[in-house]
Amino acid sequence: MAPPQILSSTNLKSLFESVDTFLFDCDGIVSGFFSPLSQFEILVMGDTLIHGVSQTLDLLRSKGKNVVFVTNNSMKSRRQYAEKFGSLGLTSVTQNEIFSSSFAAAMYLKVNNFPKDKKVYVIGGEGIIEELKIAGFSGFGGPEDDEKKAQWKSNSLFEHDKSVGAVVVGLDPNINYYKLQYGTLCVRENPGCLFIATNRDAVGHMTDLQEWPGAGCMVSAMCGSTDREPIVVGKPSTFMMDFLLQKFGTETSRMCMVGDRLDTDILFGQNAGCKTLLVLSGVTSEENLLEESNNIKPDYYTSMVSDIMKLMES
Ligand code: PLP
Ligand code: CA
Repeated sequence: MAPPQILSSTNLKSLFESVDTFLFDCDGIVSGFFSPLSQFEILVMGDTLIHGVSQTLDLLRSKGKNVVFVTNNSMKSRRQYAEKFGSLGLTSVTQNEIFSSSFAAAMYLKVNNFPKDKKVYVIGGEGIIEELKIAGFSGFGGPEDDEKKAQWKSNSLFEHDKSVGAVVVGLDPNINYYKLQYGTLCVRENPGCLFIATNRDAVGHMTDLQEWPGAGCMVSAMCGSTDREPIVVGKPSTFMMDFLLQKFGTETSRMCMVGDRLDTDILFGQNAGCKTLLVLSGVTSEENLLEESNNIKPDYYTSMVSDIMKLMES
């Protein structure tokens, strides 16, 4: 495998010639966590726009490039992400340009003709429930079960709705034993029940101070109790790629995935046949990238997204 190249004005020029569409990861690329806010409020996406992102996006668009955002964060819907982008100053980004793993979960059900009379149990955030609703599905659980307790009594069963045909699991900062028992019964008692994971990120930078367990932790809890493997719809799965291709009518070889995480963003780009650019403003350091044990190598790497702009001007 060719070693990754540091982005330079020369290789950026050839990248620009060979690519029409840039897929931007969100957390660590567009936004970061630079203030110690209360832990769960900021799960939406880092609260600070990374320096130069707005100008870089303007430049890419002015050169006729398409830009879309692909995030594994399932806590919000596309509408809520567009609002979040707006609050960060990126008012030009519309919800149609955002592909979140919450949306991917709803789209998976839609393209697989999930029956509208079946319900979807959610272990995760409001974003999943909203995307399910927009797609015409009846989702429940999520935040409404935050305070529930799984009580067991020898003379009564823990009841669950037998019309549940899918369980969707994403990051749930309020996961509890009730939710796990509910999801487990739906899957174990109905072999046809789908088990969908929005993503399996092991940990996430929920604050700038430290990492916290990611959705992979909740998904693995369900794997443990159900003895089933989930259908993963977020990065590095290429499920969303068909939607991106439909949107731009282009080929994956003319796309470049820009991200900060090797095992989600860069692997997603590689799995789909895109060019890949690792940006070191998030979870991966140059040292991690160049470690001998790392076998996920992007085509290019650079420190910040705004290097694209600086190199073009140089
Ligand atoms: N999931 C959650 C809940 C997160 O908070 C984050 C990042 O903050 C992610 C996933 C990763 O998101 P992205 O794919 O935009 O890096
Ligand atoms: Ca990221």
